[in-house]
Amino acid sequence: MKELLEETAVRAARYLAGINRRRVAPAPESVAGLESLGGALPEHSSHPAKVLALLDDAGSPATVATTGPRYFGFVIGGTVPAALAANWLGGAWDQNAALYAMSPVAAKMEEIVLQWLVDLFGLPATCGAGFVTGTTMANFTALAAARSAVLKRAGWDVEEDGLFGAPALRVIVGAEVHVSLRKALALLGLGRSRVTTVPADDQGRMRPEALPPLDDRTIICIQSGNVNTGAFDPAEQICSRARQAGAWVHVDGAFGLWAAASPLYAKLLAGASAADSWAIDCHKWLNVPYDSGIAVVRNPEHLRDAMAMSAAYLEPSARREPCFYTPEASRRARGIELWAALRSLGRSGLRELIERNCRLAKRFSEGLRQVGFEVLNEVVLNQVLVSFGDSDETRRVIAAVQSDGTCWCGGTEWHGHTAMRISVSSWATTEEDVERSLAAVIRIAKGEDLKL
Ligand SMILES: *Cc1c(COP(=O)(O)O)cnc(C)c1O
Repeated sequence: MKELLEETAVRAARYLAGINRRRVAPAPESVAGLESLGGALPEHSSHPAKVLALLDDAGSPATVATTGPRYFGFVIGGTVPAALAANWLGGAWDQNAALYAMSPVAAKMEEIVLQWLVDLFGLPATCGAGFVTGTTMANFTALAAARSAVLKRAGWDVEEDGLFGAPALRVIVGAEVHVSLRKALALLGLGRSRVTTVPADDQGRMRPEALPPLDDRTIICIQSGNVNTGAFDPAEQICSRARQAGAWVHVDGAFGLWAAASPLYAKLLAGASAADSWAIDCHKWLNVPYDSGIAVVRNPEHLRDAMAMSAAYLEPSARREPCFYTPEASRRARGIELWAALRSLGRSGLRELIERNCRLAKRFSEGLRQVGFEVLNEVVLNQVLVSFGDSDETRRVIAAVQSDGTCWCGGTEWHGHTAMRISVSSWATTEEDVERSLAAVIRIAKGEDLKL
């Protein structure tokens, strides 16, 4: 075992040392090489070192260098060193985070991380939380608590009696709601489309003056951090209207909630701490390994009502039992990496990470504007949308940037325009990486490649 793990460390270190030199997207030959991992299930056992070598030789070149410094697709963070190291040690521990008795260390990590994060986000210390795979499941988990609480007020026990015959709830979303939130609504029987959609402004922010009347059977879902523009719904106005009406406010704060770590950006979140629940991604801006998200609910009773289960052999103690707050029972111990990332960054490290990423996003937008390309959004956070002309030209540039390999950016549609999306979300990205990427994008967009 010792030799195998040492060999793994050597290979992993070699992979990470080379990530700055390789192309970001894998070469087509490398992807084709993945065939060597298949074939029929082997009849006989293999030495683990041989398996590892095969995986590294064929697998490593076929990875997308999302953990490297020049990946700007979707909203994807890398892994801070302490979190990667903790992930390895945690892998050796192989802890099941379902119950305190199964792993006191896993349970304790969640308690500590929750305490640190509610402090960072300015939420009440008494909040409950479930540690889940990402924001899709965090939205699902928090909205299950919302569904439970709002129906309970209406005299209905949704956990026991289901939704058939239940009093109707009204769900409100903004026009720019993330698709994963609609999916969560679908999974909860609330309906992807059976929602009231509030129009958004040119940055994708919900327009509070367009809110319909609210009441205590309403769940309103707002967004902190639009996946295209980075814009924030005006939480202050929406939460105060909701509070007066007794409505439940849920915040999809996948990456935007991390703005709380910086006094420069925290004002974008003004009012969001008055909500009833929040969904947060940790594999995005906290830069921990996949997968990791958190559902936080103001009143932990509501989350427990929705998620708890009972069986004699589970023997719940008086402690916080992790699986009473999540959809899953058995689950990997995500708290280990969260603890390590937060413990190593500290408040100032996290602040520096957020501010550097936002500053570099601004640099991208300024650099592109300077040479005449159109930036379509107000760059308030870490997201930039750029158009290179008409749709066909913008698509050409995106495809050429991806195959060039200096960096990687994806595409999107924004209010009738095709755009390239740039998301600066990694701890590893430096000013030099941005200058190098900017130069490559400009060279490609100006067609200088074609003229050669
Ligand atoms: C990324 C994102 C999600 C989905 O998160 P996953 O971790 O991929 O499940 C939801 N909402 C917003 C605003 C996001 O940015």
